[in-house]
Parts: sequence; structure tokens; C-alpha cells
Amino acid sequence: MHEQFVRRNGVCSHWVDGKTYEGVGERRGDVYDPATGELTKHVAFAAPADVDAAVASAQAAFASWRATSLTKRVQILFAFREALSDRRDELAAIVTSEHGKVRSDALGEVMRGLEVVEFACGVPQLLKGGFSPSVSTEVDVHSIRQPLGVVGVISPFNFPAMVPCWFFPLAIAVGNTVVVKPSEKDPSAANWFGELWAEVGLPAGVYNVVHGDKVAVDRLIEHPDVEAISFVGSTPIARYVYEQGTRVGKRVQALGGAKNHMIVLPDADLDLAADAAVNAGFGSAGERCMAISAVVAVEPIGDKLVAKIAERVAGLKVGDGRRDCDMGPLITQAHRDKVASYVNAGLEQGAELVVDGRRTTIDGSPDGFWFGPTLFDHVRPEMSLYTDEIFGPILSVVRADEYDEALDLVNANPWGNGTAIFTNDGGAARRFEDEVEVGMVGINVPIPVPVSYYSFGGWKNSLFGDSHAYGPDGVHFFTRGKVVTSRWLNPSHGGINLGFPRNA
Ligand code: NAD
Repeated sequence: MHEQFVRRNGVCSHWVDGKTYEGVGERRGDVYDPATGELTKHVAFAAPADVDAAVASAQAAFASWRATSLTKRVQILFAFREALSDRRDELAAIVTSEHGKVRSDALGEVMRGLEVVEFACGVPQLLKGGFSPSVSTEVDVHSIRQPLGVVGVISPFNFPAMVPCWFFPLAIAVGNTVVVKPSEKDPSAANWFGELWAEVGLPAGVYNVVHGDKVAVDRLIEHPDVEAISFVGSTPIARYVYEQGTRVGKRVQALGGAKNHMIVLPDADLDLAADAAVNAGFGSAGERCMAISAVVAVEPIGDKLVAKIAERVAGLKVGDGRRDCDMGPLITQAHRDKVASYVNAGLEQGAELVVDGRRTTIDGSPDGFWFGPTLFDHVRPEMSLYTDEIFGPILSVVRADEYDEALDLVNANPWGNGTAIFTNDGGAARRFEDEVEVGMVGINVPIPVPVSYYSFGGWKNSLFGDSHAYGPDGVHFFTRGKVVTSRWLNPSHGGINLGFPRNA
């Protein structure tokens, strides 16, 4: 049965030089439909020579793409934007079939990716430099930003459409060429983008995809013609990619994992906070880098808040993302089992199990990778429920006696991706935004993913490097600055002067 599916759907190959590229690598990965447990296709794993072929194609395309006028580049970007918008349901369906997230959530991911494409459409404005006339006698200064060359994008499984879109539209808009290495667990969206680019007239070689694992990543990092790497994934791999890449002189931004806290102060609207905790804790089955995994209830509202969250969790429909469900399966059976192991660990370590996801009724195939929404109360900071990034639908409630204790918890955490505070006290919220050591902060907003014209990035172990993704940081990351000082003389000569240039 499984082999029939593979035969029908075949192998997801690489995308190089504007077309499907089989590659010479012989290794393959398995791609599943997480809602049915079926093996639906294989994915080619690139050998180093396959990465070399993709980089060579990107390198060959760079000179003419860099020289292509902004007008022409923008026309292609707008066409890509239109095509992506028209066909967003198609892409969302691919995401659901390989990742498992429910259709509305998959569509939401596509829309957030589309917003970055729209931001990239403004590249003529984004690339404007500065100009200062007559900084000295007959001397003018202007600044320009130029593309880097070939850039690599390495992305995680949890946003197979949105995360690549954080990087490649902007990288391409400012004149680079790109090699994307998507997650091997849900590889098809990246190829779909390749076909879309080809349809709207992007020259071959500007956008390439290689599939695979560490072998492909390592070759991309060490390849002498790759100028920069944008990585998103777990913290250990982000650190590795950052260290390896910078060691060989590359520009690297590496976004890592997270453990996001939501603080609920006693004056908060508890219904709003409970809705937010459920949405941000269990959306996409908790497989979001901006998911809330720890709710810090500042007493005396703990009991009331837990009751409200539990009531809402009981109403969640879990099942196949193609049906009318709230939450889908986890990405693989192995990940499902790992997430489930935290229930016993939590019980052994003394946390109180309020809702047990092992007992959830599922609207889907019995072979899917299911784990229902789970709620723990009285979780303490030393428990593995709290110390680990579980990346699944387990929400932990930690009790704190006062604001300072809650803040200290967030600031002591090794990750600093996102956080939120729920309160009706403007002064407390203002203090929190100033004092919290986290890159993205929500005030009565549980998942504060910045809009495309700001930049996305965490602090501490959630980001290695100093550039955040997309927005102004993205433009900066994918370009190099140059300052030109020019002097057009009156027909007179200044004469010899070996002193350091002084402005006059
Ligand atoms: P992952 O680190 O396992 O994989 C990410 C990428 O690295 C994939 O393309 C994978 O093929 C590659 N990779 C895996 N092992 C490697 C190795 N040993 N050497 C080189 N490359 C390797 O992450 P994942 O499981 O796909 O994604 C989930 C993680 O990503 C979570 O930790 C989540 O928090 C994080 N994430 C972070 C953000 C953010 O913006 N900070 C966004 C999305 C996901």
C-alpha cells in the first residue's frame, strides 16, 4: 500500500536552473501525510555535487540578474505576487498534506509569506541610498547598497511556505540569486515556488532548490561561491550553522528555537487571556516558534485562568486538516512519541495534569500522528516540561506571586524569541516592554509576529547573528553598503597634498 503511494507520487527532486533536476545523490528521504500516516513520496537527498550544480547555476545567473533594471525586477515580483495570491489555496493544500496543519492555518502561513513578497515589491524605495552634495568644496557623497551574490536559505519543517518567503523574495529583489534547502520532511512547497517563478518569467538560475540533510547543508555552508546563509531551525543546529558559516567568512543569520511565555496579570481580561493562551498554545499543534508554551499566571488569578483554559481546550476539534478541525497531527510518529513522553515526565516531576491529550477523540485516520491538546498546572521552572522546547500541544501553567517574579522567569530563560503580557494596566505593559529581554513582545497579543515592514527575530539562543529576518534588517542582510565620495573639479588643480583628506 505504502509503496503504491510512492510510485504514484514519485520523488520530489531538486529544482535547478529553472527546471527539475534529478541529481546524482542516491540517498532518499520519506515524506508522510501526517494525518493518515501514509508514506506519500520520497525526497531526493543532495550529494555535494548536487549542491555544487545549484550554486553554479545561481552563480551563472547572478551577473545578469544583478544588472537587470529595478523596473524589470519589480515587474517580475508583482507578477509573482499576483500568481501566489491567486493560487494560495493550492499551496495551502500542499502544506496541509505534508505538514498536517489545518487548512485555515496553512492559508494563514501562505498569507504571511505573501506579505513579505509585497514588501519586496517596494524594492526601488528600499534600495534608495543617501546623497549629500558639497560635503567639501566640489565634493559630493552618496551611498549605495549592492547585492552579495549567491545566498543560501535553510528552512525548518514547521513553516514550509512562510519561512522560505521570509528570505528569498527580498534576497532576489535586491539582486541576489538563491539556493533554498527546505526541510526534508515537507519539501514540496519550495519546488512549487520554483515553478511559479518560472511561470512569471524569473530567469533560470535565480531561484534554485536542493533537498536533503546535513550533507547538503554542510556543502552549502562551505561552498566558496555562497556569500551568505539565512537559517531557521532548532537552536543546536542554528548555533552550528552560525559557527561553521562565520568560520569560513560568510555572513550568517541563524534563527533558533524558543520557549515563549505569556504573563497574565491579575487585572487582565481573563476570557481574552484564556482565548489567547489556547490559540497560541495549540494552533498548528504547538509546532510554531512563536507558540506560547508557558503561561505565567500572577496570583490570585491562577485557579480561575486554568479553569477557563481547560474549558476551552475541551471544545477543540482535533483531526485531519482537510476536515473542519481546529488542530491537526504532529509532523512524524517519532516527534509525536517524544511529545507524548512529556506527559509521564510531567507527572513524575509533580506537575498537575489538567487535560490529558492522550485521551482526545480524533476526527481522522487511526494511523495519523496524533496527540491531543494537553494542559499542565503548577509547573515549576526545574521541570522538563518547562526547561525543554517541546514543540507540541502541551501548555504549562506556572504560578507567580507578583509581576517581578514573572518577569525574572522570562529573563532567566535561555531563549528570547517571543513573549506576551495580558493586562489592562498601561503602565505595567509599558514597564514590561522596556524590561523584558525578548525580541518580539505582544501586549494583549499572544503571537506578536512582526508585519513584513518590521523585522522578525529573537534574542539570546533564539538568534545567532545580528540581523533579524525580512523588513529593514532583511534588506541590510542581503546587501553590502558602499559610500562614494566624488569630486568633479572646476577646471583648476588642487596640487599635491599628502595629508589626510580634510573637508573644507
Ligand atoms: P531542525 O533544526 O531539525 O532543522 C532545520 C533545518 O536544518 C532543516 O532544513 C534540516 O534539514 C537541517 N538540519 C537538521 N539537522 C542538521 C544537522 N545536523 N546539520 C545541518 N543541518 C541540519 O529544525 P526543525 O525540526 O525542522 O524545525 C523546528 C525548530 O525550528 C524548532 O526548534 C523551532 O523553534 C525552530 N524554528 C524557529 C523559528 C524562528 O524564527 N526562531 C521559526 C521556525 C522554527
